[in-house]
Amino acid sequence: MNNRQRARDAYDVVVVGGGTAGLAAALVLGRSRRSVLVVDAGEPRNAPAAHMHGYPSRDGMPPAEFLAEVRRETEAYGVELVRDRVAAAEPDGSGEFRVLLADGGQVHARRLVVATGLVDELPGLPGVAERWGKDVIHCPYCHGWEVRDQAIGVLYAKAFGIHQALLFSQLSDDVTLFLDGAAEDDLPDADWQMLAAAGVSVIGGKLDGLVVRDDALSAVRLADGREFARSVFVVAPRMVPRDGLLTALGARTKETPAGPFTDVDPMGQTSVPGVYAAGNATGPAEQVVNAASAGYRAGAALHADLLHTDLERAAERRRAGVFSPEGERAVARARARRV
Ligand SMILES: Cc1cc2nc3c(=O)[nH]c(=O)nc-3n(C[C@H](O)[C@H](O)[C@H](O)COP(=O)(O)OP(=O)(O)OC[C@H]3O[C@@H](n4cnc5c(N)ncnc54)[C@H](O)[C@@H]3O)c2cc1C
Repeated sequence: MNNRQRARDAYDVVVVGGGTAGLAAALVLGRSRRSVLVVDAGEPRNAPAAHMHGYPSRDGMPPAEFLAEVRRETEAYGVELVRDRVAAAEPDGSGEFRVLLADGGQVHARRLVVATGLVDELPGLPGVAERWGKDVIHCPYCHGWEVRDQAIGVLYAKAFGIHQALLFSQLSDDVTLFLDGAAEDDLPDADWQMLAAAGVSVIGGKLDGLVVRDDALSAVRLADGREFARSVFVVAPRMVPRDGLLTALGARTKETPAGPFTDVDPMGQTSVPGVYAAGNATGPAEQVVNAASAGYRAGAALHADLLHTDLERAAERRRAGVFSPEGERAVARARARRV
Protein backbone atom coordinates (compact mmCIF):
# COMPACT_ATOMS: atom_id res chain seq x y z
CA MET A 1 0.00 0.00 0.00
CA ASN A 2 1.36 3.38 -1.00
CA ASN A 3 1.59 6.62 0.82
CA ARG A 4 2.33 8.39 -2.43
CA GLN A 5 0.46 11.42 -3.75
CA ARG A 6 -2.78 10.83 -5.57
CA ALA A 7 -2.44 11.28 -9.32
CA ARG A 8 -5.64 13.30 -9.63
CA ASP A 9 -8.46 14.96 -7.70
CA ALA A 10 -11.40 13.32 -9.44
CA TYR A 11 -12.09 9.64 -10.06
CA ASP A 12 -14.80 7.58 -11.66
CA VAL A 13 -14.91 5.54 -8.47
CA VAL A 14 -13.56 5.90 -4.96
CA VAL A 15 -13.46 2.58 -3.12
CA VAL A 16 -13.48 2.98 0.66
CA GLY A 17 -11.73 -0.01 2.21
CA GLY A 18 -8.99 -2.09 0.62
CA GLY A 19 -9.85 -5.50 2.03
CA THR A 20 -10.94 -8.31 -0.25
CA ALA A 21 -14.32 -6.78 -1.14
CA GLY A 22 -12.96 -3.35 -2.02
CA LEU A 23 -9.98 -4.71 -3.96
CA ALA A 24 -12.18 -7.11 -5.96
CA ALA A 25 -14.38 -4.18 -7.01
CA ALA A 26 -11.27 -2.14 -7.88
CA LEU A 27 -9.81 -5.00 -9.93
CA VAL A 28 -12.87 -5.23 -12.18
CA LEU A 29 -13.10 -1.47 -12.50
CA GLY A 30 -9.40 -1.11 -13.29
CA ARG A 31 -9.66 -3.75 -15.97
CA SER A 32 -12.56 -1.75 -17.42
CA ARG A 33 -10.24 1.28 -17.69
CA ARG A 34 -12.03 3.23 -15.01
CA SER A 35 -10.11 5.73 -12.88
CA VAL A 36 -10.21 4.26 -9.40
CA LEU A 37 -8.85 5.33 -6.02
CA VAL A 38 -8.84 2.81 -3.17
CA VAL A 39 -8.51 4.43 0.25
CA ASP A 40 -7.63 1.85 2.89
CA ALA A 41 -7.04 2.29 6.59
CA GLY A 42 -5.24 -1.07 6.69
CA GLU A 43 -7.20 -2.93 9.39
CA PRO A 44 -8.67 -6.00 7.70
CA ARG A 45 -10.84 -8.08 9.99
CA ASN A 46 -8.82 -11.29 9.78
CA ALA A 47 -5.48 -9.62 10.53
CA PRO A 48 -5.13 -11.47 13.90
CA ALA A 49 -5.19 -14.86 12.12
CA ALA A 50 -1.99 -16.43 10.83
CA HIS A 51 -3.74 -18.29 8.02
CA MET A 52 -6.81 -17.89 5.84
CA HIS A 53 -8.89 -20.93 5.01
CA GLY A 54 -11.70 -21.82 2.66
CA TYR A 55 -10.67 -19.67 -0.30
CA PRO A 56 -10.30 -22.04 -3.24
CA SER A 57 -6.70 -22.16 -4.49
CA ARG A 58 -5.45 -20.00 -1.57
CA ASP A 59 -6.37 -22.22 1.38
CA GLY A 60 -3.87 -21.67 4.23
CA MET A 61 -2.33 -18.50 2.81
CA PRO A 62 -1.47 -15.77 5.37
CA PRO A 63 -4.18 -13.06 5.06
CA ALA A 64 -1.63 -10.24 4.69
CA GLU A 65 0.11 -12.09 1.85
CA PHE A 66 -3.21 -12.65 0.12
CA LEU A 67 -4.13 -8.96 0.25
CA ALA A 68 -0.65 -7.90 -0.88
CA GLU A 69 -1.06 -10.15 -3.93
CA VAL A 70 -4.48 -8.69 -4.78
CA ARG A 71 -3.09 -5.17 -4.37
CA ARG A 72 -0.32 -5.99 -6.85
CA GLU A 73 -2.86 -7.36 -9.32
CA THR A 74 -5.08 -4.30 -8.92
CA GLU A 75 -2.30 -1.75 -9.32
CA ALA A 76 -1.24 -3.42 -12.55
CA TYR A 77 -4.44 -2.03 -14.08
CA GLY A 78 -3.76 1.55 -13.01
CA VAL A 79 -5.82 1.54 -9.81
CA GLU A 80 -4.40 3.94 -7.22
CA LEU A 81 -4.14 2.69 -3.64
CA VAL A 82 -3.52 5.00 -0.70
CA ARG A 83 -3.19 4.32 3.01
CA ASP A 84 -5.65 6.76 4.57
CA ARG A 85 -9.10 6.85 6.09
CA VAL A 86 -12.22 8.34 4.53
CA ALA A 87 -13.63 10.70 7.14
CA ALA A 88 -16.82 11.58 5.25
CA ALA A 89 -18.49 11.21 1.87
CA GLU A 90 -21.11 13.77 0.91
CA PRO A 91 -23.39 14.27 -2.08
CA ASP A 92 -22.07 17.20 -4.17
CA GLY A 93 -25.52 18.21 -5.41
CA SER A 94 -25.07 16.77 -8.91
CA GLY A 95 -25.59 13.09 -8.03
CA GLU A 96 -21.87 12.61 -7.41
CA PHE A 97 -19.74 12.78 -4.27
CA ARG A 98 -17.13 14.73 -2.32
CA VAL A 99 -14.87 12.39 -0.38
CA LEU A 100 -13.02 13.85 2.58
CA LEU A 101 -9.87 12.09 3.71
CA ALA A 102 -8.48 12.00 7.22
CA ASP A 103 -5.18 13.46 5.95
CA GLY A 104 -7.12 16.63 5.09
CA GLY A 105 -7.36 15.93 1.37
CA GLN A 106 -10.53 15.86 -0.69
CA VAL A 107 -11.37 14.03 -3.91
CA HIS A 108 -14.36 13.93 -6.21
CA ALA A 109 -16.01 10.58 -7.00
CA ARG A 110 -18.70 9.89 -9.55
CA ARG A 111 -19.55 6.70 -7.67
CA LEU A 112 -18.65 5.11 -4.34
CA VAL A 113 -17.98 1.58 -3.21
CA VAL A 114 -18.06 1.23 0.56
CA ALA A 115 -16.24 -1.93 1.65
CA THR A 116 -15.27 -0.98 5.16
CA GLY A 117 -15.88 -4.36 6.83
CA LEU A 118 -16.97 -4.81 10.43
CA VAL A 119 -15.56 -4.74 13.94
CA ASP A 120 -15.68 -7.80 16.19
CA GLU A 121 -16.61 -6.67 19.69
CA LEU A 122 -15.25 -9.43 21.88
CA PRO A 123 -16.70 -10.62 25.18
CA GLY A 124 -14.90 -8.90 28.03
CA LEU A 125 -13.72 -12.15 29.64
CA PRO A 126 -10.03 -11.78 30.63
CA GLY A 127 -7.75 -13.49 28.11
CA VAL A 128 -10.16 -13.46 25.18
CA ALA A 129 -8.80 -10.32 23.47
CA GLU A 130 -5.16 -11.46 23.94
CA ARG A 131 -5.76 -14.87 22.36
CA TRP A 132 -8.22 -13.73 19.62
CA GLY A 133 -7.45 -15.25 16.23
CA LYS A 134 -4.97 -17.71 17.81
CA ASP A 135 -6.67 -20.18 20.15
CA VAL A 136 -9.75 -18.03 20.79
CA ILE A 137 -11.78 -18.37 17.62
CA HIS A 138 -15.32 -17.94 16.32
CA CYS A 139 -15.73 -19.65 12.96
CA PRO A 140 -15.71 -23.41 12.32
CA TYR A 141 -15.20 -22.85 8.59
CA CYS A 142 -12.19 -20.56 9.09
CA HIS A 143 -10.32 -22.52 11.79
CA GLY A 144 -12.34 -25.65 12.57
CA TRP A 145 -10.20 -28.20 10.75
CA GLU A 146 -7.07 -26.86 12.45
CA VAL A 147 -8.53 -27.51 15.92
CA ARG A 148 -10.08 -30.88 15.17
CA ASP A 149 -9.91 -33.46 17.97
CA GLN A 150 -8.74 -30.85 20.49
CA ALA A 151 -10.31 -29.96 23.86
CA ILE A 152 -12.69 -27.18 22.80
CA GLY A 153 -14.57 -24.82 25.13
CA VAL A 154 -17.48 -22.77 23.84
CA LEU A 155 -18.79 -19.63 25.55
CA TYR A 156 -22.58 -19.63 25.63
CA ALA A 157 -23.89 -16.58 23.78
CA LYS A 158 -27.51 -15.68 24.29
CA ALA A 159 -27.89 -14.34 20.73
CA PHE A 160 -26.56 -17.51 19.11
CA GLY A 161 -27.56 -20.03 21.78
CA ILE A 162 -25.90 -23.40 21.41
CA HIS A 163 -25.24 -23.10 17.66
CA GLN A 164 -21.45 -22.90 17.87
CA ALA A 165 -21.20 -25.80 20.34
CA LEU A 166 -23.15 -28.01 17.92
CA LEU A 167 -21.04 -26.95 14.92
CA PHE A 168 -17.75 -27.63 16.72
CA SER A 169 -19.02 -31.03 17.91
CA GLN A 170 -18.57 -32.15 14.32
CA LEU A 171 -14.86 -31.42 14.67
CA SER A 172 -14.06 -32.86 18.09
CA ASP A 173 -15.57 -35.36 20.56
CA ASP A 174 -14.37 -33.13 23.41
CA VAL A 175 -16.55 -30.02 23.36
CA THR A 176 -17.71 -28.24 26.54
CA LEU A 177 -20.25 -25.43 26.61
CA PHE A 178 -19.65 -22.89 29.41
CA LEU A 179 -22.85 -21.14 30.49
CA ASP A 180 -20.95 -18.31 32.23
CA GLY A 181 -23.73 -17.59 34.69
CA ALA A 182 -26.66 -18.11 32.33
CA ALA A 183 -29.39 -20.12 34.04
CA GLU A 184 -29.82 -23.71 32.88
CA ASP A 185 -33.50 -22.87 32.38
CA ASP A 186 -32.50 -20.35 29.69
CA LEU A 187 -31.89 -23.31 27.42
CA PRO A 188 -35.08 -24.91 26.14
CA ASP A 189 -35.52 -28.69 26.41
CA ALA A 190 -34.87 -29.03 22.68
CA ASP A 191 -31.40 -27.48 23.16
CA TRP A 192 -30.51 -29.92 25.95
CA GLN A 193 -31.56 -32.80 23.72
CA MET A 194 -29.40 -31.54 20.85
CA LEU A 195 -26.40 -31.01 23.14
CA ALA A 196 -26.79 -34.53 24.52
CA ALA A 197 -27.13 -36.00 21.03
CA ALA A 198 -23.97 -34.14 19.94
CA GLY A 199 -22.02 -35.32 23.02
CA VAL A 200 -21.40 -31.76 24.29
CA SER A 201 -20.74 -31.34 28.06
CA VAL A 202 -22.24 -28.32 29.80
CA ILE A 203 -20.65 -26.45 32.72
CA GLY A 204 -22.69 -23.88 34.68
CA GLY A 205 -21.26 -21.09 36.84
CA LYS A 206 -19.68 -17.74 36.16
CA LEU A 207 -16.29 -17.66 34.41
CA ASP A 208 -13.26 -15.85 35.77
CA GLY A 209 -11.05 -15.92 32.67
CA LEU A 210 -8.75 -17.89 30.43
CA VAL A 211 -5.55 -19.42 31.71
CA VAL A 212 -2.61 -18.96 29.36
CA ARG A 213 0.65 -20.85 29.82
CA ASP A 214 3.68 -20.84 27.49
CA ASP A 215 1.89 -18.53 25.08
CA ALA A 216 -1.01 -20.93 24.61
CA LEU A 217 -4.47 -21.37 26.08
CA SER A 218 -4.33 -24.06 28.73
CA ALA A 219 -7.61 -23.83 30.69
CA VAL A 220 -10.86 -22.02 31.37
CA ARG A 221 -11.15 -20.86 34.99
CA LEU A 222 -14.45 -20.48 36.81
CA ALA A 223 -15.09 -17.82 39.45
CA ASP A 224 -15.11 -20.57 42.10
CA GLY A 225 -11.49 -21.39 41.17
CA ARG A 226 -12.06 -24.62 39.27
CA GLU A 227 -10.07 -24.95 36.03
CA PHE A 228 -11.08 -26.95 32.99
CA ALA A 229 -8.25 -27.85 30.63
CA ARG A 230 -9.05 -26.50 27.16
CA SER A 231 -6.72 -25.70 24.26
CA VAL A 232 -9.33 -23.85 22.17
CA PHE A 233 -12.07 -21.42 23.22
CA VAL A 234 -14.92 -20.41 20.92
CA VAL A 235 -16.71 -17.09 21.33
CA ALA A 236 -19.38 -15.21 19.39
CA PRO A 237 -18.24 -11.61 19.00
CA ARG A 238 -20.81 -8.89 18.51
CA MET A 239 -20.32 -8.05 14.84
CA VAL A 240 -20.70 -4.32 14.28
CA PRO A 241 -20.61 -3.03 10.70
CA ARG A 242 -18.32 -0.10 9.97
CA ASP A 243 -21.21 1.65 8.28
CA GLY A 244 -20.90 5.25 9.48
CA LEU A 245 -20.36 6.56 5.92
CA LEU A 246 -23.36 4.62 4.64
CA THR A 247 -25.75 5.69 7.38
CA ALA A 248 -24.64 9.32 6.99
CA LEU A 249 -25.52 9.05 3.29
CA GLY A 250 -28.95 7.70 4.28
CA ALA A 251 -28.51 4.08 3.16
CA ARG A 252 -31.30 1.77 4.27
CA THR A 253 -30.49 -1.16 6.56
CA LYS A 254 -31.90 -4.67 6.85
CA GLU A 255 -32.15 -6.96 9.87
CA THR A 256 -29.70 -9.89 10.10
CA PRO A 257 -29.10 -12.40 12.93
CA ALA A 258 -26.29 -10.06 14.03
CA GLY A 259 -28.40 -6.88 13.96
CA PRO A 260 -28.92 -4.24 11.26
CA PHE A 261 -26.58 -4.14 8.26
CA THR A 262 -26.75 -2.02 5.08
CA ASP A 263 -29.24 -3.37 2.60
CA VAL A 264 -27.86 -4.01 -0.90
CA ASP A 265 -29.36 -5.58 -3.99
CA PRO A 266 -27.64 -8.64 -5.54
CA MET A 267 -25.24 -6.31 -7.39
CA GLY A 268 -24.26 -4.33 -4.30
CA GLN A 269 -26.36 -1.22 -4.98
CA THR A 270 -27.51 0.43 -1.75
CA SER A 271 -30.73 2.44 -1.47
CA VAL A 272 -28.65 5.59 -2.26
CA PRO A 273 -28.11 6.11 -6.00
CA GLY A 274 -24.45 5.86 -6.93
CA VAL A 275 -23.41 4.21 -3.66
CA TYR A 276 -22.47 0.54 -3.70
CA ALA A 277 -21.38 -1.60 -0.77
CA ALA A 278 -19.81 -5.05 -0.46
CA GLY A 279 -18.30 -7.52 1.98
CA ASN A 280 -18.68 -7.53 5.75
CA ALA A 281 -20.02 -3.97 5.72
CA THR A 282 -23.21 -5.50 4.29
CA GLY A 283 -23.54 -8.68 6.34
CA PRO A 284 -21.94 -10.83 9.04
CA ALA A 285 -21.57 -13.97 6.89
CA GLU A 286 -19.39 -12.48 4.16
CA GLN A 287 -16.35 -14.73 4.32
CA VAL A 288 -13.35 -13.83 2.15
CA VAL A 289 -14.58 -15.68 -0.92
CA ASN A 290 -18.04 -14.11 -0.58
CA ALA A 291 -16.52 -10.66 -0.07
CA ALA A 292 -14.49 -11.14 -3.27
CA SER A 293 -17.60 -12.18 -5.16
CA ALA A 294 -19.69 -9.28 -3.83
CA GLY A 295 -16.93 -6.77 -4.66
CA TYR A 296 -16.59 -8.21 -8.15
CA ARG A 297 -20.34 -7.92 -8.78
CA ALA A 298 -20.45 -4.36 -7.44
CA GLY A 299 -17.51 -3.39 -9.68
CA ALA A 300 -19.16 -4.84 -12.78
CA ALA A 301 -22.55 -3.27 -11.99
CA LEU A 302 -20.96 0.06 -11.32
CA HIS A 303 -19.02 0.02 -14.58
CA ALA A 304 -22.25 -0.65 -16.49
CA ASP A 305 -24.00 2.09 -14.49
CA LEU A 306 -21.30 4.64 -15.49
CA LEU A 307 -21.26 3.46 -19.09
CA HIS A 308 -25.01 3.85 -19.51
CA THR A 309 -25.03 7.22 -17.74
CA ASP A 310 -22.35 8.51 -20.13
CA LEU A 311 -23.95 7.07 -23.25
CA GLU A 312 -27.37 8.44 -22.34
CA ARG A 313 -25.83 11.88 -21.83
CA ALA A 314 -24.03 11.63 -25.18
CA ALA A 315 -27.23 10.55 -26.91
CA GLU A 316 -29.06 13.45 -25.24
CA ARG A 317 -26.45 15.90 -26.56
CA ARG A 318 -26.90 14.45 -30.02
CA ARG A 319 -30.68 14.75 -29.78
CA ALA A 320 -30.27 18.35 -28.66
CA GLY A 321 -28.36 19.00 -31.88
CA VAL A 322 -25.03 19.73 -30.26
CA PHE A 323 -23.68 17.50 -33.01
CA SER A 324 -24.65 18.65 -36.50
CA PRO A 325 -25.14 16.03 -39.23
CA GLU A 326 -22.04 17.49 -40.96
CA GLY A 327 -20.09 17.14 -37.73
CA GLU A 328 -21.21 13.52 -37.31
CA ARG A 329 -20.09 12.73 -40.87
CA ALA A 330 -16.72 14.37 -40.22
CA VAL A 331 -16.24 12.29 -37.06
CA ALA A 332 -17.11 9.10 -38.94
CA ARG A 333 -14.72 9.99 -41.80
CA ALA A 334 -11.93 10.69 -39.33
CA ARG A 335 -12.53 7.33 -37.66
CA ALA A 336 -12.48 5.56 -41.02
CA ARG A 337 -9.09 7.09 -41.82
CA ARG A 338 -7.67 5.55 -38.62
CA VAL A 339 -8.82 2.02 -39.56
C1 LIG B 1 -9.84 -13.93 13.40
C2 LIG B 1 -10.56 -14.07 12.09
C3 LIG B 1 -10.17 -15.03 11.18
C4 LIG B 1 -10.86 -15.17 9.98
N1 LIG B 1 -10.49 -16.17 9.14
C5 LIG B 1 -11.15 -16.32 7.96
C6 LIG B 1 -10.81 -17.40 7.09
O1 LIG B 1 -9.94 -18.22 7.39
N2 LIG B 1 -11.49 -17.51 5.92
C7 LIG B 1 -12.49 -16.64 5.59
O2 LIG B 1 -13.07 -16.78 4.50
N3 LIG B 1 -12.82 -15.61 6.40
C8 LIG B 1 -12.18 -15.43 7.56
N4 LIG B 1 -12.51 -14.40 8.40
C9 LIG B 1 -13.50 -13.42 7.93
C10 LIG B 1 -12.78 -12.35 7.05
O3 LIG B 1 -11.98 -11.57 7.90
C11 LIG B 1 -13.80 -11.49 6.31
O4 LIG B 1 -14.59 -12.34 5.51
C12 LIG B 1 -13.14 -10.48 5.37
O5 LIG B 1 -12.18 -9.73 6.06
C13 LIG B 1 -14.19 -9.55 4.77
O6 LIG B 1 -13.56 -8.70 3.85
P1 LIG B 1 -14.01 -7.16 3.70
O7 LIG B 1 -13.25 -6.66 2.52
O8 LIG B 1 -15.47 -7.05 3.70
O9 LIG B 1 -13.53 -6.43 5.06
P2 LIG B 1 -12.07 -6.27 5.67
O10 LIG B 1 -11.17 -7.36 5.26
O11 LIG B 1 -12.27 -6.09 7.14
O12 LIG B 1 -11.53 -4.92 5.03
C14 LIG B 1 -12.10 -3.68 5.31
C15 LIG B 1 -11.02 -2.62 5.13
O13 LIG B 1 -11.64 -1.33 5.13
C16 LIG B 1 -10.82 -0.47 5.88
N5 LIG B 1 -11.62 0.69 6.34
C17 LIG B 1 -12.64 0.69 7.23
N6 LIG B 1 -13.14 1.93 7.36
C18 LIG B 1 -12.43 2.72 6.51
C19 LIG B 1 -12.48 4.10 6.17
N7 LIG B 1 -13.39 4.94 6.72
N8 LIG B 1 -11.59 4.59 5.28
C20 LIG B 1 -10.69 3.76 4.70
N9 LIG B 1 -10.60 2.43 4.97
C21 LIG B 1 -11.46 1.93 5.87
C22 LIG B 1 -10.30 -1.33 7.02
O14 LIG B 1 -9.18 -0.75 7.63
C23 LIG B 1 -10.00 -2.63 6.26
O15 LIG B 1 -8.69 -2.63 5.74
C24 LIG B 1 -11.90 -14.27 9.64
C25 LIG B 1 -12.28 -13.29 10.56
C26 LIG B 1 -11.62 -13.18 11.78
C27 LIG B 1 -12.07 -12.14 12.74
